[in-house]
Amino acid sequence: MRHADCCDTADHLLTLSAAVTAALHTIQPICETESVPLFDAYGRVLAADVAARLDAPPGDNSAMDGFAVYLADLSLEIPTRLPIAGQALAGHPYTGLVPRGTAARITTGALIPDGPDAVIMQEQCRIDPDEAWIDIEPHIAARLKLGENIRQRGEDVQAGTRLLLKGLRLRPQDVALAAGQGMATMAVIRRLRVAVASTGDELHEPGEPLPPGAIYESNRYTLIGLLQRLGCAVTDLGILRDDRAVILPALREAAATHDVLLTSGGVSVGTADLVKDVIAELGHIEFWQLAVKPGKPVTFGRIGNCQVLGLPGNPVSVMVSFLMFARPLLLKLMGAEPMEPVRLQAAANFAFRRKTGRREWLRARLQLAPERGPVVDIYPTNSSGALSSLSWADGLVELPEDCAGVAPGDAVDYLPFSGLGVD
Ligand code: AMP
Ligand code: MG
Repeated sequence: MRHADCCDTADHLLTLSAAVTAALHTIQPICETESVPLFDAYGRVLAADVAARLDAPPGDNSAMDGFAVYLADLSLEIPTRLPIAGQALAGHPYTGLVPRGTAARITTGALIPDGPDAVIMQEQCRIDPDEAWIDIEPHIAARLKLGENIRQRGEDVQAGTRLLLKGLRLRPQDVALAAGQGMATMAVIRRLRVAVASTGDELHEPGEPLPPGAIYESNRYTLIGLLQRLGCAVTDLGILRDDRAVILPALREAAATHDVLLTSGGVSVGTADLVKDVIAELGHIEFWQLAVKPGKPVTFGRIGNCQVLGLPGNPVSVMVSFLMFARPLLLKLMGAEPMEPVRLQAAANFAFRRKTGRREWLRARLQLAPERGPVVDIYPTNSSGALSSLSWADGLVELPEDCAGVAPGDAVDYLPFSGLGVD
């Protein structure tokens, strides 16, 4: 694993891209599928391509409220008066052939009756108050074309075409497309089972009294929210004390029944950092420590069939390492495409000095300045413990490994949270 290609930083840490590539290479997507009703399909991963079984629309229909007419009946010299022969409403087709020299009232979505070859908008006709006839002015008739305001059968979707691809995370419009095809259920990949634990003797649950030296736990509140947005089935293992006798059985049991185990804390180099050792004891560690900031101690391993991701404890490191490292792996495991984050170029509204060698993310906010184009600000403090910075931010500025600093006005990459599945 640790060869020159993937460790192009001075202190020989694995780069993020090398780590993600290596991890993606080792993991296999889950493939068990289930069939779910459409309202339960949002956010799920499609298990097989979906082909259209119907033409949509199923027949020629009207795009407007108006009158179905024969184009050839309209005079281009004098107003044409056409008696109204009947009506075609959405869901109530006109029966029979519309007689030549007449018009049929039609509403949006109604089937075009046999005979007429264009629909003229209601607003372009003079309608007799008793609805017995309409008059059409020659200049309006001159502009009307064959097939005008008629939506052709199959114009949106043709039966047999591939509509949705396997691996798609279903959005409302995708589910709607299946509904439009008359499908009541969709085949999706079963939810990824992820267990989440926080570690640390200093951690207490919100709502409890806080002893001296303690802090409230927040990482599970970040991670579980992020996992739910990805559509994972989450098991909350709570807070684990910094005690091998607590951590070891908890991780062993969780690994036996989950696809992924996600921990925070305890992977650094302190004496209480036991998680890494326990992973190594129960399974093996693929790699540890990445050339990133924040989030350097990220640990990637496996216990039995369970993929283990040990994230660092600092609240900012947790979220950033989840988004940059864990997210693509989880997407692959759940059978979806591990998409690259959306990157936008923006002008820095700040100065920042740093050492080269690690990829770094700063908590950022984008402004769309009308004259200057997109401009990005960063949070005043860069501490990886400053949870408030993440709540303030709407995205991250990404500084590549070789970036030695940023001057005001420099173009930087801004990654909106919305492009990382957080909005
Ligand atoms: P560790 O990686 O366990 O050394 O933790 C690094 C820092 O993150 C320490 O200051 C911890 O107190 C803090 N921390 C660890 N886990 C959590 C958590 N779940 N919620 C809030 N802060 C945490
Ligand atoms: Mg700790």
